[in-house]
Amino acid sequence: MRKWILTASALALSVAVSQPSLADVTIDDIVKDAETTGDVVSNGMGPQGQRFSPLDKINTGNVSKMVPAWTMSLGGEKMRGQESQPLIKDGVMYITGSYSRAWAIDAKTGDELWQYDARLPEGILPCCDVINRGGALIGNKFIFGTLDAKLVALDAKTGKVVWKKKIDDYKKGYSYTAAPLIVPSEAHGPLLVTGVSGGEFGIIGRVEARKAETGDLVWSRPTIEGHMGMLNGKESTMTGKKNESWPGDLWKTGGAATWLGGTYDPETKQIFMGTGNPAPWNSAMRPGDNKWSCARIAINPENGEINWGFQTTPNDGWDYDGVNELVSFDLNGTKAAGTADRNGFFYVLNRENGKFIRGFPFVSKITWAKGLDKNGRPIFDPANRPSDPAKSKDGKKGSTVFAIPSFLGGKNWMPISYSKQTKLFYVPSNEWGMDLWNEPVTYKAGAAYLGAGFTIKPIFDDHIGALKAVDPATGKIVWTMKNKAPLWGGVLTTAGGLVITGTPEGYLKALDAKTGKVLWKFNTGSGIVGTPVTWEQDGEQMVSVLSGWGGAVPLWGGEVAKTVAHLNQGGMVWTFKIPK
Ligand code: CA
Ligand code: CA
Repeated sequence: MRKWILTASALALSVAVSQPSLADVTIDDIVKDAETTGDVVSNGMGPQGQRFSPLDKINTGNVSKMVPAWTMSLGGEKMRGQESQPLIKDGVMYITGSYSRAWAIDAKTGDELWQYDARLPEGILPCCDVINRGGALIGNKFIFGTLDAKLVALDAKTGKVVWKKKIDDYKKGYSYTAAPLIVPSEAHGPLLVTGVSGGEFGIIGRVEARKAETGDLVWSRPTIEGHMGMLNGKESTMTGKKNESWPGDLWKTGGAATWLGGTYDPETKQIFMGTGNPAPWNSAMRPGDNKWSCARIAINPENGEINWGFQTTPNDGWDYDGVNELVSFDLNGTKAAGTADRNGFFYVLNRENGKFIRGFPFVSKITWAKGLDKNGRPIFDPANRPSDPAKSKDGKKGSTVFAIPSFLGGKNWMPISYSKQTKLFYVPSNEWGMDLWNEPVTYKAGAAYLGAGFTIKPIFDDHIGALKAVDPATGKIVWTMKNKAPLWGGVLTTAGGLVITGTPEGYLKALDAKTGKVLWKFNTGSGIVGTPVTWEQDGEQMVSVLSGWGGAVPLWGGEVAKTVAHLNQGGMVWTFKIPK
């Protein structure tokens, strides 16, 4: 009896000790993240995804004095693309790295506090490098997804596993790389909202919400019509209407992977998710709009129902995934949202109802469409759609078209930023094209399901990358910063009048948000494909970014991959400030 009492009190003691001295991250902290400068507790520096900081201690007048405060190596032999956005709370930085690893770091010194290494099985099927785009903080947990399609919740203080959930079967091509999204819900408490990767393997895209505390599934919403949703353990409603915009059985392996995660708008209480290409790439096999592939969808967090959808590339034939983030902003009193699509067009939507406000090209020489109609639907150029291989002489290869942008997109995954100060969007774009043709293909679980061949090529001598300042009110490109290599990192803007972003050549750069003039740059030793953040610590403004070259370009870039083959790999966190 006495022993039992001792055990019980010891247990109570150990519970008390294991409570983090760090304050828990509340749902309120996340909803208000964009305004609170002492922490960064969400991907996007606020759930709306603006990546704009009200901090102005570092500004156009003094940024030239910025120097490194500390660095930390991600070490090991696992130096691949580092696409994670740091999170910072109570003096601790949380990051993820290549091969599904996570760290907590002392944000004042760069000392490692803990490291978690997911033990990945043989046979994972990541399409585009072994990257990870960051985690989520909620309560006393740091939660991230792994390349074998699992979600892991770690104790933020110790790095110990609190819970682990399987999303799906990695052998079928499912994986997970996005930063999870935390959203409030009246019915269920804080929800962890995730998607799936694997659009090149004929998986079925879906959005899922779990209780952040336990990882238990609350609802699931497939992104291909004909598939059934789930709510509270039961079937809920079908997405769309079976065969309405998909022929035959192709919807059963239709892709539309939700691989980049999403944003959340507290004002309209909607989750915005993007969806990837329909599968296979060969569009001759699937006449119709193929909903909801290549689209933005708005989802009600309470029940997982789709409020509205907007397809950027119906019947996609170019792998123009519509996953790119939809960023909420105020457009002269209208609740608007902006997004820079893989297909080369920038869209401004009314985020309350998904209605098209305007759209315009943000890259030059687009070939696949002649423009957008009054509803934002592309005006296709039939001559520039790769033809049906079944109608070719030998039935094996359709016509080759030269399409701009390339399938890696006018913009790929790397996040844009909206400055509340200049009222401009800053888009890390790429100007390139591709030879593209269709081939016959049949679905086989766990095998690439493309039905297409391709080679990416430059279209300009002096650049592929082009950071563009875009005015959503007029469609004007205000300025452009050209970059030789393709841009693959995200953008941060600040009330100090700055735009901060990295290049594959290794530079972190600070530009004047009004003019695009480079005011400061620093070479981090490897290519930057991560996204910078800024926060305030002990009265000083800090800037952090991950450096480590990799991602999709070296793997899929065709002729362009050869032009970046000399860039060195790495894996470092860099933190900067202005010395006192
Ligand atoms: Ca904050
Ligand atoms: Ca794709």
